[in-house]
Amino acid sequence: MIAAFIHDVPPQRVVFASGASGRVGEEADRLGLKRALVVATPGSGARLGARLADLLGSRAVGLHAKAVIHVPRDVAEAGVAAARELKADGIVSAGGGSAIGLAKAIARETGLPIIAVPTTYSGSEATPILGMTDGERKVTVRDNRIVPRTILYDPDLTLALPVAVSAASGMNGIAHCVEALWIAERTPVTEALATDALRRFAKFLPRVVADGADRQAREQCLVAAWLAGVVLCAGTALHHKLAHVLGGLGMPHAETHAIILPHVARFNLAAAPESRERLALALSASDPAAALEKMLHGLPIPQKLREVGFDQGKIGLVAEEAAKLVIVDPRKAGTEDIRAVLTNAY
Ligand code: NAD
Repeated sequence: MIAAFIHDVPPQRVVFASGASGRVGEEADRLGLKRALVVATPGSGARLGARLADLLGSRAVGLHAKAVIHVPRDVAEAGVAAARELKADGIVSAGGGSAIGLAKAIARETGLPIIAVPTTYSGSEATPILGMTDGERKVTVRDNRIVPRTILYDPDLTLALPVAVSAASGMNGIAHCVEALWIAERTPVTEALATDALRRFAKFLPRVVADGADRQAREQCLVAAWLAGVVLCAGTALHHKLAHVLGGLGMPHAETHAIILPHVARFNLAAAPESRERLALALSASDPAAALEKMLHGLPIPQKLREVGFDQGKIGLVAEEAAKLVIVDPRKAGTEDIRAVLTNAY
């Protein structure tokens, strides 16, 4: 019997092409934007932001290259203030989840439309989800008004994405797909997309890590990232909720996802035979949790929580916080269970 489901993924215009970022002006015109504010992270993000502002020409009112991971409250407020001061009528985000997060934070307060030009594999551009930090707490909001109206996927922009960022954000995308296979809200569409994205990531992320200039692998990972973002819209469970609590403590986002994924998978898959089978097929592996662990070991990123500055003394606190979220699908996750997952990941 097929379990009842609701498929509720917001619509978006998606342009995927080599050189697609060159169409940003055209896409701004399509949305009627005359005063777009470009947001980015500092450094390489700012350089891409400046290029997009140039391409926008008179349709751009400025570049705000002050995005920070996890969108701290003061960073969000400064972004909203900049958009208001410049009388922006739209936002163009240049870069990965940090830039997109800031664009969403501005859109949430102002209702401005977003054009996202993503350069990582974390998939935020496809979701109505915004995570922000306020001190040591991370809060998540879901609002269809903040979904970027248009995504411009330009694989050329990813050729220089550092290998470690590629690997970590790729594992973040993989985590969206793995969790999509066991959440209660899964639908035939999200299961199919997650499976397809996992196949692409499993084959092509190692190639990206071996050679960042491997164009075919870059294209495939970018498509996988899009699909991973789409399936994240359906919902989350233990994996993302635990990563979220850890994110509130300042843990690096993508790396934390990568580290805990095999351990959460081992715990959950023991009670989710159908999801296990689907994941085994997608990864061509009889033990999918072990396959995820092997994948992580092959990547040049931190392997354990202790390597990203996590304080072992906080395992109990994090386990209690996560257990309060009462996660029951696909398996009830109590304090002791989560403590064991964290201890293994540490
Ligand atoms: P990121 O945007 O933080 O980028 C990581 C680093 O890579 C930054 O230093 C950035 O400047 C650099 N970089 C990005 N693109 C580059 C390029 N092409 N060349 C050189 N350097 C480049 O990475 P991320 O993992 O995509 O984003 C993490 C953030 O996204 C977190 O805040 C997380 O909460 C959020 N996120 C949100 C969702 C959602 O649906 N709301 C989903 C996933 C991640």
